[in-house]
Amino acid sequence: MFLVDSHCHISDLNFREQHESFEDAYRNAMAAGVTHMLNICCELPQFAKMAADSAPYDNVWLTAGTHPENISAEWTEEQLRECCSNPKVIAIGEVGLDYYYDADTKVTQQRDFIRQIAMARELRLPLVIHARQAPLDTWNIVRSERASDVGGIFHSCAESLDFAGKVLDAGFYISVNGIITFKSGENIRELARYVPLDRLLVETDSPYLAPVPYRGRSNEPAFVVKTAEKLAEVKGVEYERVLEQTSANFEQLFSVSLAESFPR
Ligand SMILES: [Zn+2]
Repeated sequence: MFLVDSHCHISDLNFREQHESFEDAYRNAMAAGVTHMLNICCELPQFAKMAADSAPYDNVWLTAGTHPENISAEWTEEQLRECCSNPKVIAIGEVGLDYYYDADTKVTQQRDFIRQIAMARELRLPLVIHARQAPLDTWNIVRSERASDVGGIFHSCAESLDFAGKVLDAGFYISVNGIITFKSGENIRELARYVPLDRLLVETDSPYLAPVPYRGRSNEPAFVVKTAEKLAEVKGVEYERVLEQTSANFEQLFSVSLAESFPR
């Protein structure tokens, strides 16, 4: 039985109080039954460190890309290609639009989103998409740039069911994070009930958004267990069923084998 944290920021974990190194967080995750992780890049200058942190572990993969909040960090197609030549890179991300924090950079965000979809198509890699308070523009770009040719996942999705329906119809997956455990997370529970289990993944988005009962602490991959447990409850299925199906979804989306990459 496998359990994947499909979205974590390993290089940003709390190395001051919670862990001495990624090794600690990795061991906590493995001890909790979290067997695989996808280490998500937010800007290319951090990629080398991420790659070094992940290098010893076959069960930790990488993405490469520029987050909409980091569009001030200039990047070139050549740099992104170079990062993606690392065989651990299985997606372009995280990319997208965020009008909540950075509404004044809409045009640049859209330009970078479009450029990175083009790269995903060129490199035949799926996309890890961050969309916050920008459903219309996100959907228009995804459609006009034919992002569904490579597919991908809308992570920490908190948009409407109408938006979720559109991206599901276009073949994308949706992941839920620890907010599903929050008292205030009814919109995420509603989303999780709506999305079919064969299109769902679970994630921590660590070090952010630690699930109940770890709220207030820095999040880490081990805590994705709480999100998977809550998802099982919300869907009314066995916990094992959630592990089995989210694992199959991860393999399908990212074209990897969890069994082959699991350390013996
Ligand atoms: Zn993230």
